[in-house]
Amino acid sequence: MARQVLVTGASVAGLTAAWWLGRYGFDVTVVERAAGFREGGQNIDVRGVGRAVLRRMGLERAALDRGTGEEGTAWVDARGRVAAQFKAGDLDGDGPTAEMEILRGDLARLLYAPASAHAAVRFGDGVERIEQDADAATVAFASGRVARYDAVIVAEGVGSSTRERVFPGENAPRWMDLTIAYFTIPRTARDDRMWRWHNATRGRSVSLRPDRHGTTRAMLTLQRPPGGEDGWDPARQKAFLRAQFADVGWEAPRVLAAMADTEDFYVDVLRQVRMRRWSNGRVVLTGDAAWCVTPLGGIGTTLAITGACVLAGELARAAAVEDACAAYERAMRPMVEQAQDLPKIIPRLMNPHSRLGIRLLHGALRVASAPRLRGLAGRLFARRFPEPDLSRYPDGRAGPSA
Ligand SMILES: Cc1cc2nc3c(=O)[nH]c(=O)nc-3n(C[C@H](O)[C@H](O)[C@H](O)COP(=O)(O)OP(=O)(O)OC[C@H]3O[C@@H](n4cnc5c(N)ncnc54)[C@H](O)[C@@H]3O)c2cc1C
Repeated sequence: MARQVLVTGASVAGLTAAWWLGRYGFDVTVVERAAGFREGGQNIDVRGVGRAVLRRMGLERAALDRGTGEEGTAWVDARGRVAAQFKAGDLDGDGPTAEMEILRGDLARLLYAPASAHAAVRFGDGVERIEQDADAATVAFASGRVARYDAVIVAEGVGSSTRERVFPGENAPRWMDLTIAYFTIPRTARDDRMWRWHNATRGRSVSLRPDRHGTTRAMLTLQRPPGGEDGWDPARQKAFLRAQFADVGWEAPRVLAAMADTEDFYVDVLRQVRMRRWSNGRVVLTGDAAWCVTPLGGIGTTLAITGACVLAGELARAAAVEDACAAYERAMRPMVEQAQDLPKIIPRLMNPHSRLGIRLLHGALRVASAPRLRGLAGRLFARRFPEPDLSRYPDGRAGPSA
């Protein structure tokens, strides 16, 4: 009989795991807490080995076709004049704008269709309790269902509640002293295909990014230690942001006005998830639930796709779930640890508090973007990682087709 696997969380990591497990012939159930498929989210990058996983899934071309069309990143002053800029091609696609820039919701949708073809996806449900014995994990769901599984994959993102249940007190979060609000606003004729980034004093920045849906993706960023903002309701978060950005120029008044009516408002108080282990018996963490790097690393989605593929591959190779989890951890730890090695000074450098700091940042970026120095800048932006060896895993053609 096919081994039974439960995946919790139907976003990038969970859907990739479900796709591969389905291809390998597992009997897969996905539960997602949200009532329906979650479309939201803004620009995410897929790089290096993440692209290779999408290629093996036959989805790389489709992901490129669904790209945001962002052509580069420009730092602008209060009058919209460009202080420095990098075009996507300047740094071999490894700069702030990667070659594969896609909206999170578009990537998740791309994964959802083939994943749900060979996994049962249940929305509006989640894990209430997990008990493990020698043969299986017994899961009690919020819906009242109870079922037994050979393995449970937790792909619930940075705030995973199942992680806290199964690994109580084991996460030692590293706060990055940065809060970002993401939301979609109407597009205007001034919005071009660049990611336009305006720094204001007191560690604040406003940025606008293009999408392919005829709207514009706005971000409000605040560099400061966390003050519990992630626990506030959206009305309180918006009032707080309105007060914080009230005196900022450039496009800030327009962005604040549009924030009132936006349909997808998402506030991230950036913190890394730091776990000494990613599995406890038959329960195993992946994606942001296991190792959230934060968007500062530009590699979170790549890690989610790669980790899910590696975990499924190891489950297909090993006779025992515990052996698969150990091999998965050996394959992914080096890449994750290097990705998490982000100096906390970076948010402060990119979001200066004084006018002088902003002038220095723009000056440094202008120098780095000069054609002769782009090679050096490329090395700064493009970090190289010890990537897992995907050739260990069958490409899944033997299983049911996508
Ligand atoms: C709506 C949304 C918008 C996002 N927007 C951005 C963005 O603009 N920029 C950016 O860099 N990153 C964004 N992210 C995060 C980004 O998707 C991840 O950093 C990365 O892709 C890794 O994905 P993941 O699948 O590990 O986690 P996530 O993408 O965070 O997905 C976790 C999934 O698990 C579900 N879930 C949570 N708890 C439970 C539970 N107890 N039971 C069942 N399901 C549960 C969530 O609803 C979600 O669908 C967003 C995530 C979401 C969910």
